[in-house]
Amino acid sequence: MLNKKTVRDFDVKGKKVLVRVDFNVPLEDGKVMDDTRIKAALPTIEYLLDRGSAVILASHLGRPGGEAKPEFSLKIIANYLDDLIENKVYFCEDCIGEKAKKAAQVIKYGEVLVLENTRFHPGEKKNDPGMSKELASLAEMYVNDAFGTAHRAHASNVGVAAYLPAAAGLLLEKEINYLDNAIANPERPFVAILGGAKVGGKIRLINNLIDKVDNILIGGGMANTFFAAQGYKIGDSLVEGEAIELAKELLGKAKGKLKLPVDVVIADEFSNAASKRIINVGDVPENWRILDIGPSTLEVFGMVITGSKTVVWNGPMGVFEFPSFAEGTFKLAERISESEAITIVGGGDSAAAIVQAGLSEKITHISTGGGASLQMLEGAKLPGLEALADK
Ligand code: AMP
Repeated sequence: MLNKKTVRDFDVKGKKVLVRVDFNVPLEDGKVMDDTRIKAALPTIEYLLDRGSAVILASHLGRPGGEAKPEFSLKIIANYLDDLIENKVYFCEDCIGEKAKKAAQVIKYGEVLVLENTRFHPGEKKNDPGMSKELASLAEMYVNDAFGTAHRAHASNVGVAAYLPAAAGLLLEKEINYLDNAIANPERPFVAILGGAKVGGKIRLINNLIDKVDNILIGGGMANTFFAAQGYKIGDSLVEGEAIELAKELLGKAKGKLKLPVDVVIADEFSNAASKRIINVGDVPENWRILDIGPSTLEVFGMVITGSKTVVWNGPMGVFEFPSFAEGTFKLAERISESEAITIVGGGDSAAAIVQAGLSEKITHISTGGGASLQMLEGAKLPGLEALADK
């Protein structure tokens, strides 16, 4: 359970409130391609507006590298938000400095001001106290609702909290409670499904989860390193040589809880147009590579999911960016959505797959933060959360 003060613990009426949201959403040709994160921020924004606050929103978007780049402007998102809510939404071309100060002074209670991308300033990623102070000077209170950024220590989500009364927003609270509860107090059987490319970065996660789960299912490129650890031939598949020893240790430690694919889809080149074959694991021909899990694996994984009461999923089962190798990921998403269990999908690629498949309504909780939810599952602390006032 969240042990920090939330926006509900403060009297927010007649206050200017700086809210750090995560509006880092995919854009294409000036259009918002997935508004999950924007909609997820609405409960806090509306909570404050309904109670007569003036809401000042700060967020990063993409990786502009510490300078103003028009393609990373939050203006499009300000317009999008303006269409979503009835209250007036204004946009300011900077997040600090004279322009921001003036705009923050001028907005009225019941109105919203969206500030320009915090990463247009190099101080953001350096957690620079000067930038934090400037941001804090815009408001009388600070709320962090950016779960997707909570694993970073930046000026707008950590530094700023030192200069204002600082509370968690409703999304942050919900994310922490779902993930915390799933790990600390799961309804059993509890299965974690992990995919994606890099096992190295997820070793800590597997290590932390092994004692807590009843099963871990591993797919995607990650599985290859485990295949290599068992001495299987994997052809030209992606593998992390330096993680093979760790994979061996984990296989020993997992004592049968860790389940790997039994069949895979292989390709003669790394492309959507490649020739493909389904084979049992163990003997990938030279020059071929594993790009997806196979149908028998889906059956096995599906049965484990059906028999579980808590399901946590993070990472694609294959190179799902290629439609030809996306079946494993999308079919797995379907199996998870059909389950009666408490289903939690970590952010990033797996959340995107659920949204693309139109299955969002059938999932208990889709996290808005890939990196942040992984960090929580690893059992590590989130700097964005630590910076807030204790309950
Ligand atoms: P990660 O950042 O570790 O979560 O990895 C996500 C990426 O893993 C996605 O872009 C997938 O295309 C990639 N991926 C999944 N399975 C494979 C595979 N078998 N071979 C290569 N890349 C993969």
